[in-house]
Amino acid sequence: MKCYNLLIISNDIYDSGDILYLFEDLKNKLLSYLTTEQVDRIAQAFVTARNAHEGQTRSSGEPYITHPVAVATILADMHMDTETIMAALLHDVVEDTPINQEQLEQLFGPTITNLVNGVTKLDKLQFRDHKEAQAENFRKMIMAMTSDIRVILIKLADRTHNMRTIDALRPDKRRRIARETLEIFAPIANRLGIYSVKKELQDLGFKAMYPMRYRVLKEAVKKARNNRNEIINSILEDIKGRLSETDIKSRVLGREKQLYSIYLKMVHKECQFHEIMDVYGFRVIVENVDNCYRVLGHMHNLFKPRPGAFKDYIAIPKINGYQSLHTSLIGPHGVPIEIQIRTEYMDQMADQGVAAHWYYKEKGSESVNSTAQIHAQRWLKNLLELQQSAGNSFEFIESVKSDLFPEEIYVFTPEGKIFELPIGATPVDFAYAIHSDIGQRCIGARVDHHPFPLNRPLASGQSVEILTSPLAKPNAMWLNSVVTSKARSKIRQYLKSLRIEECQLLGKRLLKNAIGNIRIEDLPAEHIRHVLSEFGKKNLDELYTDIALGNIYTVIAANKLLNRENMDTPIGTVPHATITPSAINGTGGLSYVYANCCHPIPGDPIIAHINPGKGLVIHNQNCLNIKELSTKSAKFLNVSWDLSNACNCVFDAALRIEIKNHQGILGEISNAVSVAGANIEGISSEEREGQIYMINLIVTVRDRIHLADIIRKIKAIPNVIKVARKKA
Ligand code: MN
Repeated sequence: MKCYNLLIISNDIYDSGDILYLFEDLKNKLLSYLTTEQVDRIAQAFVTARNAHEGQTRSSGEPYITHPVAVATILADMHMDTETIMAALLHDVVEDTPINQEQLEQLFGPTITNLVNGVTKLDKLQFRDHKEAQAENFRKMIMAMTSDIRVILIKLADRTHNMRTIDALRPDKRRRIARETLEIFAPIANRLGIYSVKKELQDLGFKAMYPMRYRVLKEAVKKARNNRNEIINSILEDIKGRLSETDIKSRVLGREKQLYSIYLKMVHKECQFHEIMDVYGFRVIVENVDNCYRVLGHMHNLFKPRPGAFKDYIAIPKINGYQSLHTSLIGPHGVPIEIQIRTEYMDQMADQGVAAHWYYKEKGSESVNSTAQIHAQRWLKNLLELQQSAGNSFEFIESVKSDLFPEEIYVFTPEGKIFELPIGATPVDFAYAIHSDIGQRCIGARVDHHPFPLNRPLASGQSVEILTSPLAKPNAMWLNSVVTSKARSKIRQYLKSLRIEECQLLGKRLLKNAIGNIRIEDLPAEHIRHVLSEFGKKNLDELYTDIALGNIYTVIAANKLLNRENMDTPIGTVPHATITPSAINGTGGLSYVYANCCHPIPGDPIIAHINPGKGLVIHNQNCLNIKELSTKSAKFLNVSWDLSNACNCVFDAALRIEIKNHQGILGEISNAVSVAGANIEGISSEEREGQIYMINLIVTVRDRIHLADIIRKIKAIPNVIKVARKKA
């Protein structure tokens, strides 16, 4: 048994000889943007990883530690933070060496351990299905189950280095990894806007997948480029010459075409090779947005623009945040020219996407907080479609992730097949998603090999096994927890198929169960009649039937009968176990959501609308939608705020803001919200007339006092005409 040096004394770090050649380059890179103390912490991670991987080698024969160092170097080039670099150095330690999770946590703390675990978890996911449809699911799932987007960045760097060294592997393994890279990882890099990584993964994947085509195409491109050098240089001189006559500071570059994108164009669009190569690409990088448009004007004046070919991705960014102006022109002797015009910042974003966030956080002389805020404002403008904003790094990560795939979870069958379900889905939903018969015969579930309640929501990444019995029947109680329409309608269908007497018996049993020791027959007849009329039922049998069919909640019927309007504690069986303390009193344990029309917050008068099969929807009592609904009291439940629990929650509030359009005003509003200690959850705008716009903003607040403060701060902004809470 080997003894591993786990406890590191800082003097020890620079002692070993091999550090000099393995760590030195990385260290110099890190020192260009991190402090000496931060680099020292990273050095400790390096020593731990090196000791742990001692004696292991890569397929190429090199010491194993060269791999984590290479991965960390890729991330250092993106200026990623200390924790990411440390986790990159340690990323294979838990999986491949005797060091376990607890030891790692002891040495480096929970954040780095979580990052390493995240990467390890992704490693275990095998690309099981070669169908394209599954590939898209798989990409989404990887994103959804990763709680910290830095895990994906480490994984992308890991894959990049593995692709760079793929020649050392067996051909069959090479092809599998190459395909996975092209179908899964390159699109993830693209979705996150990290163009430099996407490009490298694609070219390496292409080379490993189709070595012959790669070689032929590469030769052809090289030859074509040599023949065209003269034209490229003369156009470059024309562009530079024109810009030097202005006061615009700029860099002008000739753009190389990516091999894989040439290949795809030839395959999909059936373009001829020379048609693709005969388009000359250039990029002009300037200092600010105004100059982008000025350069555009000069270019359109220098060469004749092709009508309809101009794209303004500055005003309307691509979904991954990409910004630039694109235009196509007709150059000297009729050669087609494409020019991209953008700022340095946009160029950085185009190259590094999400990762640029850390780059800009580390850079700059202002404090991290204010750069992060400037960044937040830029994102708000850039990614309006994604409806996101960011206050600090953590929120940024969270908002990117939840914006990508907000409402879905991904779970596995024991065989590894992926199912996409809405958030909140239970094992019963999952059972019906596999097959209606499985749903109908379902009696229990095991999640990640442990017993799991049928009414508890599943989480992404879990593997779910459904236990069935040929004699089992759907349970009416499931209607309280399922969220998919398939499960709901199949359960109802079954309940309707029951004979009427069976329904009455089932309903009676459910109701008895809910009211406990009291016998219905003992309740005053007058009271029973009153309750029946509230529900619009002629007799108890009708009530039983509706309970069995899931049209009336058992708990609510029971509480009406027992005269318990305000249900502080759930009685009888609890249909929906709530784990977090509830901010609402009187729900009787039923699950509830806040209405999207009036967005009630603590302090507002509220009422619960009972939506059979869906649960309770908490509305503001003054909500117009409530007024429109029938005034039948059986459809409503009196509820109140539990202020002691509510103070630990945040709520969404909707604001309508009337503004006079003016550059930067969105930034100022986002700033005001963040100064007030709140986040923007959603934003949309509509044009009123002329320069007047209406902005709908969803902000997170603690209570009415907090909201009042936010409103006051927004009102103080010049050009804001009116701020009001949206009522419905
Ligand atoms: Mn690795």
